[in-house]
Amino acid sequence: MRGLSVGRSSRGCLVGVGLAVLLVTCVPTPSSAVRPLPALPITFVVGRIEGRAIVDDAWIDAQVEMANRVYHPHGLAFVRAGRRALLRPAVVRSTADRDALAREAERGVINAFVVEHLGDAADPDDAIGGRHWRARGRQYVIVARECWRDTLAHEIGHFLGHRGHSDVIGNLMSYLRVLPVSRLTDAQASAMRRAARRYLRTGELRAGARGATRSPRRQIV
Ligand SMILES: [Zn+2]
Repeated sequence: MRGLSVGRSSRGCLVGVGLAVLLVTCVPTPSSAVRPLPALPITFVVGRIEGRAIVDDAWIDAQVEMANRVYHPHGLAFVRAGRRALLRPAVVRSTADRDALAREAERGVINAFVVEHLGDAADPDDAIGGRHWRARGRQYVIVARECWRDTLAHEIGHFLGHRGHSDVIGNLMSYLRVLPVSRLTDAQASAMRRAARRYLRTGELRAGARGATRSPRRQIV
């Protein structure tokens, strides 16, 4: 079943509300040919509006859970390593605003900035759902509160080296993703594992937990 989606430019990842599909699913185990990597840590830096965090723990957990559902069959997993408040405003309009987030990025983790509004680079009033970004020698992901449930997973794909977008409906790295779970090709996943191993080797990421060896729990999505 397809999620709600519309065509968008390649400047950013689209905003939308995925179809809420009530379905109990089993998550496949990794192929025996794939040696799972240690789980990669994600720290969430959450924007605030009038002193209140714009998302709760359930929102964060749902994004992490979805990322694990997509990547787990390919030997990749993610663990929530921390959460803290974003010091800057939760509205990110310009590319300068995106750059400024680098000052709040932590070393050794995937920094996921959660903001109220993420503007398109060409039109800051036009909201997009997520963006992988590089500034000041750092890379991180930015996701809007009203993003798709797999937007974090998609942006992590860019963090793990995937450039551009697939035109295959249902592929995680496309604009036309499929709920309840989008897919990665083996070639995409293989390249992402290579990037993850490189980040672990260089220290850009530190090993989180041995989460990749466990299946995400059976759940209702
Ligand atoms: Zn993208």
